[in-house]
Order: sequence, then structure tokens, then C-alpha cells
Amino acid sequence: MKDFREMLQIDFLKDRHVRFFHRTLQVLPERYASLETTRLSILFFALSGLDVLDALDVVDSNIMIEWIYSLQVLPTEDKSNLSCCGFRGSSHIGVPYSTKGPGVVHPYDSGHIAMTYTGLCSLLILGDDLSRVNKQGCLAGVRALQLEDGSFYAVPEGSENDIRFIYCAACICYMLDDWSGMDIQKAIEYIRGSLSYDNAFGQGAGRESHGGWTFCAIASLCLMGRLEEALSQRELDRIRRWCIMRQQSGFHGRPNKPVDTCYSFWVGATLELLDVFRYTNFEKNRNFILSTQDRLVGGFAKWPDSHPDPLHAYLGLCGLSLIGEPSLRKVHPALNITQRAFQHLQQLQQTWRESTNSCGGQH
Ligand SMILES: [Zn+2]
Repeated sequence: MKDFREMLQIDFLKDRHVRFFHRTLQVLPERYASLETTRLSILFFALSGLDVLDALDVVDSNIMIEWIYSLQVLPTEDKSNLSCCGFRGSSHIGVPYSTKGPGVVHPYDSGHIAMTYTGLCSLLILGDDLSRVNKQGCLAGVRALQLEDGSFYAVPEGSENDIRFIYCAACICYMLDDWSGMDIQKAIEYIRGSLSYDNAFGQGAGRESHGGWTFCAIASLCLMGRLEEALSQRELDRIRRWCIMRQQSGFHGRPNKPVDTCYSFWVGATLELLDVFRYTNFEKNRNFILSTQDRLVGGFAKWPDSHPDPLHAYLGLCGLSLIGEPSLRKVHPALNITQRAFQHLQQLQQTWRESTNSCGGQH
């Protein structure tokens, strides 16, 4: 491989990206209106992007933390809504603004598993200690979403069910340091059943292999600490080969598809978790990601000459972080937050464990 200095021919416009994510936290263009119900995930992309850029000082953490807590679906007085708890994506349902319990009774109010995942991540990024997270509610909410086949719905009223939501559930249980939120064995069986004939994972059994689902499968097993138990060495080697073959210049998500910035993270992080990322070509990967950089407004797009969006901007940055771009913070490949935020989580978990030990029970 060439010297890293030679790879740095295309400028990485750090300040523009800081401005891009800062702007994302303020006013969004009209075309984002349809994403209102999942606004918390956009907040996560912007906040974690600023964290990777080491630029969190541009945000007012306290205001953000309060807003995130206002999206928590809290248990009502009689706890009859426990299975609906977690975080909602925005205030669209119209319940009164409140950061404290008990929750209010509302027939359509419930958490969304991806919002609970991105909400918890965002709180960690902002340095919150998660002390106001209702763990009992979050875990009951997650547990209620698991189906008999081991997969998860996103919301209690039902939705698609697949490995994406197993991944969100695994992240939530991992962060809260409590796996009572899922039947791990059933989840592993669903993941194993999604391994396709060509040695990567699909959305479910019999579905086409895909880089995104493969990330969710491998990252979930890593968070559970069950990777080597769930998959044989031979299977793991074949998955490694499938993932390495996804590199063209950047990475694509499936054979014969065009390369796309986000797969520099989805496939790159999977290869990192499988300990073979170093066998890929960092220079070509970097050049592709930077070819999608918007030199005027910042951010990264899916493809060159198209518009940047928060998801691709964030995952493009994470892709650059994985190959060691100077001036970027390192990313935790399974949780998809910075190593800095991950260390904060580890410190919190240490204090929870100490208090559990000293009280001999609940914390
Ligand atoms: Zn993409």
C-alpha cells in the first residue's frame, strides 16, 4: 500500500462537514418532512457526525438532552403501557411536552426500536449518564417486539420484522447492560436462518444477501458475545470473502450494484469486526468516499454528483474513520458511535455494576 501521505491528495473538507451537521440540527428542508416520525435518528446522525469530527462544542448539550428525554415513552401510573415504552422519533403524536414520568395514556403512543437505539446513543454522545432512562420500560418495550421466530418488529402495532431490528435490540440490551430485553437464542436462530447460499445475510431466510443485513447480523452476534459460537470458522471465512469481494473502488451492498458511500461503513465495519478489514484497499475506498463529498455545503452523497444527506454524510465519515483518516475520532464498529462515547458508556456500566454489588441487588 502507498504511503498515507500520497493518499491525501483529495482534500477532506472538515470544516464544511461540521457546518453541514450543525445545520442539520437547526432547520431541515421541506423534503425531510416525511422523516418527521424518525427525527431522532437524524439527530443521531448529526450528533455522532460532529463527535467523529471532534466538534461537539458547537451544540448546546443540555437543550438536546432535555429534548431527547421529552421523547421517552414512560410507564403510566398503573404501568399498563410497559410493552409500549422506549423512545418515539419526535413529538408528532401530540402528547404534552414532559421529561418526567409518569407517562400519559394515549392509544397510539409507543416507542420505536430504532429510535430507542439512536436516542440512547445520542444521550451517550452528549455525555448524559442515562440516569433518567426508564430501563424497566425500555427493556419491556424491546422484549414485547420479539416474534416467535426470533426477529423483532420496530413498533408494537407491527411492522416489517427482520435482522435490522434484532441489531437495534442488541444495541439497546448491550448499552443498558441487561439482556432480559430479548431471547438471545431465538435471535441467533433467526440470524443463522438468514445466512444465504452465497455466504452472507439477507433480510430473513431465503432472501438476497446484502451488505446492510450482513452488518446487522455480525454486529449483533459480536454485541451478544456469540460470534464464534453461532458461526463456524468455515462459515466466518466465507462471510469474510463475500464482504471483501464487495469492494470495487468504494463498496457496494450486493453483487452488480453501483458502489455507494454508506457501504464503506456497513461492509467496512463488518470486515473490521471480522478482523480482515486491513486486506482491503484503503486508497481506493478513500478516493471513492471523497468523490461524493459536497465541496460547497459539506456532507457526503450516496454517489458522486448527487445531493448529500445526513445518513450518507455520517456513514461516509465513519467509513473514513475506519481507514484512519487523520483528525477523525475512531468509531466503535459494532455500536456505530465513537470510541470516546463508547468509553463513556463503559465508565457508566462500571458504576452501575459497583452500585449493584454494594446494594446486593437492583440498581
Ligand atoms: Zn447508501
